Amino acid sequence: KPQLRLFLSLSRSSSTAAGRTVRFMSIFINNEWLPSCSGRTFPTINPATGVKICDVEEADKDDVDEAVQAAKAARKRGSPWRRMDASSRGSLLHKLADLVERDRLLLATLETMDTGKPFLQSFFIDLEGSIKTLRYYAGWADKIHGKSLHIGDFMCLTKHEPVGVCGAIIPWNFPLLMFMWKIAPALSCGNTVVIKPAEQTPLTALHVGSLIKEAGFPPGVVNIVPGFGPTAGAAIASHMDIDKVAFTGSTEVGQLIKEAAAKSNLKRVTLELGGKNPCIVFADCDLQLAVEETQKGAFYNQGQCCTAASRVFVEESIYEEFVRRSIENAKKIVIGDPLDPRTSHGPQIDQQQFDKIMDLIESGKKEGAKLEYGGLAVGEKSLFVHPTIFSGVKDHMRIAKEEIFGPVQCIFSFKSHEKAVERANTSQYGLVSAVFTTSMDRALSVSAALETGTVWINCYNALHAQTPFGGYKMSGNGRELGEYALAEYSEVKAVTIKLSETL
Ligand code: NAD
Repeated sequence: KPQLRLFLSLSRSSSTAAGRTVRFMSIFINNEWLPSCSGRTFPTINPATGVKICDVEEADKDDVDEAVQAAKAARKRGSPWRRMDASSRGSLLHKLADLVERDRLLLATLETMDTGKPFLQSFFIDLEGSIKTLRYYAGWADKIHGKSLHIGDFMCLTKHEPVGVCGAIIPWNFPLLMFMWKIAPALSCGNTVVIKPAEQTPLTALHVGSLIKEAGFPPGVVNIVPGFGPTAGAAIASHMDIDKVAFTGSTEVGQLIKEAAAKSNLKRVTLELGGKNPCIVFADCDLQLAVEETQKGAFYNQGQCCTAASRVFVEESIYEEFVRRSIENAKKIVIGDPLDPRTSHGPQIDQQQFDKIMDLIESGKKEGAKLEYGGLAVGEKSLFVHPTIFSGVKDHMRIAKEEIFGPVQCIFSFKSHEKAVERANTSQYGLVSAVFTTSMDRALSVSAALETGTVWINCYNALHAQTPFGGYKMSGNGRELGEYALAEYSEVKAVTIKLSETL
């Protein structure tokens, strides 16, 4: 609360906030701040105003190489990181969580300036999730170990060892949270990291670089290379000294990364990609809950979520009432300056995303869906898209098939329960889904039939550090979060001992 009061006074002038918050704009290698090898920088823009926040040093292949050599040296035999006992690794992660908590207001402000997401969402959702992820994996650090087996004359021990140097490439929709989803399990398992933030949103990652140094992580354990995908990102994916790469972003780039990994050193790859996520709303549901949760799913973060609830299938008998209440609910959304705590809906990230969304809205109109609400840009020359609701959406339409990544809710109707599940599964993606019903029997049998990595029952976007997250089909490979992520960041070594004497 005191932090929030301070924020309210700061937010009266966003330029004052910017001046006070941006301190780190360079490449972070070996706990040092470096200029780019090429001498190039790139601007990062506030999408709410179109104004440049600052220029950031632009890492490319040479800088990535330097970062990888630092990460490799940091995990050499005999290095402080390698010799550190596991509980001390956990303490460092807790210390980092303490520092993120200390700088919570500043980080939330930076995140909002760089992404355009409403401040209260940055402060309460992104920062909360980041801190909890660090603390969850801090707790795991000294609990990661193998088993022993006795097989006749042999004793076999399994050891869980770090994979090595882990590359990470992250997107612009949740810059800080994705940073933590990648580094926390990697460090908990004893790896070192080279991470590239998205070119649109490098600022919170760089601030956390300063906290990593302050927490006392040895030099080279985490290295941050802000830069572009085809240069810095591609250099990570194809680097011969990177042992694993974790990526969150588009399915197309995920395919490129997997290909580059295969063609270089067959590094391990985990991918968290797109979604076209179905919700099935049955007639026996709590209707108001279903309206609010599915709409939160569709419009949260201006629809820029891999988990966006972009296909809502509603049982015919409650369809009209559902559409009516959805429109009413959407009217409560407050569009405005994301730094104003009253705002609940900010701009899209950039012109490219804005144009893609407007094009898909036009296609929905042309293909015969009924535009119930929104469908417009807000103001002139801005990146704000009005929350938009289409009803009468049919499965063949582009808005029913393509990932929109914008605030567009598509409502379909269904009669047969079986067909609804079949239609929900008719997608190349399989990230998340949701079921709204008061019958637990139905919820459980439908959730068994849905081809997605997560199924939410009577809720939406309920993500926790403890629960695995990842996709079926073209939504990705592997799992992040929970105990499952530890396996993605560990090698298992079997040590087999021949017993010379059996008593
Ligand atoms: P993107 O996949 O191009 O970018 C994500 C990250 O990958 C960024 O850090 C980017 O620099 C990097 N990258 C881009 N090209 C690369 C390459 N050739 N090699 C290595 N790294 C590369 O996403 P985008 O262009 O920012 O957005 C396009 C679409 O991706 C969106 O419309 C949305 O559908 C999807 N997307 C999904 C997520 C998600 O959370 N799953 C996040 C952002 C975007």
